[in-house]
Amino acid sequence: ASCFEGIAMAPPDPILGVSEAFRADTDAKKLNLGVGAYRTEELQPYVLDVVNKVSKLYLSNWYIAERLMLERSENKEYLPIEGLAAFNKVTAELLFGADNPVINQQRVATVQGLSGTGSLRLAAALIERYFPGAQVMISSPTWGNHKNIFNDARVPWSEYRYYDPKTVGLDFEGMISDIKAAPDGSFIVLHGCAHNPTGIDPTPEQWEKIADVIQEKNHIPFFDVAYQGFASGSLDEDASSVRLFAARGMELLVAQSYSKNLGLYAERIGAINVVCSSADAAARVKSQLKRIARPMYSNPPVHGARIVANVVGDPALFNEWKAEMEMMAGRIKNVRQKLFDSLSAKDKSGKDWSFILKQIGMFSFTGLNKTQSDNMTNKWHVYMTKDGRISLAGLSLAKCEYLADAIMDSYH
Ligand code: PMP
Repeated sequence: ASCFEGIAMAPPDPILGVSEAFRADTDAKKLNLGVGAYRTEELQPYVLDVVNKVSKLYLSNWYIAERLMLERSENKEYLPIEGLAAFNKVTAELLFGADNPVINQQRVATVQGLSGTGSLRLAAALIERYFPGAQVMISSPTWGNHKNIFNDARVPWSEYRYYDPKTVGLDFEGMISDIKAAPDGSFIVLHGCAHNPTGIDPTPEQWEKIADVIQEKNHIPFFDVAYQGFASGSLDEDASSVRLFAARGMELLVAQSYSKNLGLYAERIGAINVVCSSADAAARVKSQLKRIARPMYSNPPVHGARIVANVVGDPALFNEWKAEMEMMAGRIKNVRQKLFDSLSAKDKSGKDWSFILKQIGMFSFTGLNKTQSDNMTNKWHVYMTKDGRISLAGLSLAKCEYLADAIMDSYH
């Protein structure tokens, strides 16, 4: 008998498990709208040109690469626990804007993390250690991994209302009253832009009201920014929610990811930023984040950090990156429009599909329930999460008609 007899089989991950099922399907019409990864119009994975350009310094020609690395003294030594200094500098500047007082006054504790997930996990450990019993509030629904992250960090969480199925829009009243009802000093997890899974963001006026309530209640905003520049195509516009809160002088947490906007999914590059009311507090918070990281994974990987630092640090590459983000965001917007057009043309029931156009980012919440989502997969070979979320980044203009047929058949 095995000593592991008592260990049961874990269920597949609700998001990554969809890709496993997709790979096993042999039908030519199959479509993977499960995982949120950008695809080209030909539905192929995409490496950004700017990433190829800076990565080629390391990969294309071994001799040139080695020489360049030596010149730039880019070796494979361990990074410091807090990560690559040049990366930490540019990542905070991208988020807040380089001239933001929180940066000039050195009030941001920035630590490189293992992409968005790892950065959220560091912050969760900080909350567990220094805010015992504090409540974390997450939106209902939210990205599924939020619950896993707080559970594993042993941080209690509860949900605030967010999605209104009647309008397939934001339940703003519900959101505000739940945030008001939370115990003072709760951490409020907010999606900086392109809410996952709904694609529904508050308006600028609504963000102001959310900030009012959070301030009134002495809550601590905890932003998850996984799509900066990828949602609207503009880095500044997608960071406006975070900057609005920072401009009020509030203390806040922000987890960042470069998986989507720079297509660095597998490099695991991101950061946790804690804005404090003084430089002194920021220095202490940073020291504790490092103390948490050290026994977890010791220090972060270097390759993705160098790519980000090199792209942002070179004006020509930085502009190229912005253009590529606009291109990716633009392709998703085109697909969104085409899907809306196809659905509106096919649906004779008078149903209003305009909610699809109001959503932003790579996801669309279709309003399909679990049974209908099952029909999408079992009959139409369209793979998606069971909450009715589809990734428009996995869709091409050419496949919109087919998807609209599948949705019509599943709805009615
Ligand atoms: N937060 C949200 C809301 C996300 O959608 C994602 C990506 N799916 C992440 C965080 C983090 O992803 P990663 O760890 O790849 O950066």
